[in-house]
Amino acid sequence: MICDICRSREAEVFQPHSGRKLCRKCFIEDIRERVKREAEKIGLDKGGKILLAVSGGKDSYVLADTLASFIDHDRLIAYNIVEGIHGYNRKEHVEQLKKFLDGLGIELIEDSFEKSIGYSLDEMVKSAIEKGLNVSACTFCGGFRRKLINNAGRIVNADYVATGHNLDDEVQAIIINLIRGDIIRLVRLGDKPIKLSSKFVLRVKPLRKIYEWETTMYAYYKGYNFQETECPYISMRPTLRAKVRDLLYSLESIKPGTLLNIIEEFDKIAERVRKETNLKEELPTCKICGEPTSYGREICKNCELLIRAGLLNVDSAVLQNLK
Ligand code: SF4
Ligand code: ZN
Ligand code: ZN
Repeated sequence: MICDICRSREAEVFQPHSGRKLCRKCFIEDIRERVKREAEKIGLDKGGKILLAVSGGKDSYVLADTLASFIDHDRLIAYNIVEGIHGYNRKEHVEQLKKFLDGLGIELIEDSFEKSIGYSLDEMVKSAIEKGLNVSACTFCGGFRRKLINNAGRIVNADYVATGHNLDDEVQAIIINLIRGDIIRLVRLGDKPIKLSSKFVLRVKPLRKIYEWETTMYAYYKGYNFQETECPYISMRPTLRAKVRDLLYSLESIKPGTLLNIIEEFDKIAERVRKETNLKEELPTCKICGEPTSYGREICKNCELLIRAGLLNVDSAVLQNLK
């Protein structure tokens, strides 16, 4: 079987959404080209500093490698957070990631929940359980990760924060926010990043049109030594996401290209909704940590979680407001 692009090398991958059989080299080139197109649409090619939020999973390796294939490495800086999850966060994973980034000439900033928040994720979960809180580990994890990544972007004066979310992640998020009717979150998922607070660094997702199976193949072909251990809290993940993921996989298998169609149509709709929705107003800031929070809130969700878990002491007036 010959590659449909170069017509010279042996094909190794079948790409259902394009109907093409590709050799390893053309497959890698195809992914880089599609990431480049998305990055150009956002304006990443034009200049500015980009903070890469890297977890050590396969997508973060693919993110760094694809961006470094067309962006000056001096404009890239990586940031990793150790959440503090027993048996999941391993020192060797960060060392491997650092070695890989060193090879690309990208500096890595190392951080942890313990260093920047004062508690590991395990400690937060333990305290929350002791207080009888019905909050999943992923809620703590996702919220604090977003906050620390944005802080890091601000500290290094980054113009963009790039994350490794792939097409599967994005379409799942679109469907979930549609089901919830969360318009603000929805339009923020579009291809043009929007900034609802001067304290936010623009968040971009250059892999948002790359299927998860493609990032896996890319990582496999490149021989990355990425973190494959499953997080012990994975079973606590919201079940709606798992259901939406299964539904999307079955649609994709019946009609290859469905996920790409959804995101492309969604981008057009998001553009129109953005124009019609008044999103000019700056988000309020949290009275405790000073970071942006949702409209109508005085205290951000992260601070509220710490208070409820008994990990942040505040005066009784604030507590009353939370009740
Ligand atoms: Fe964090 Fe949940 Fe992912 Fe584990 S599964 S790393 S707790 S978001
Ligand atoms: Zn080829
Ligand atoms: Zn706060």
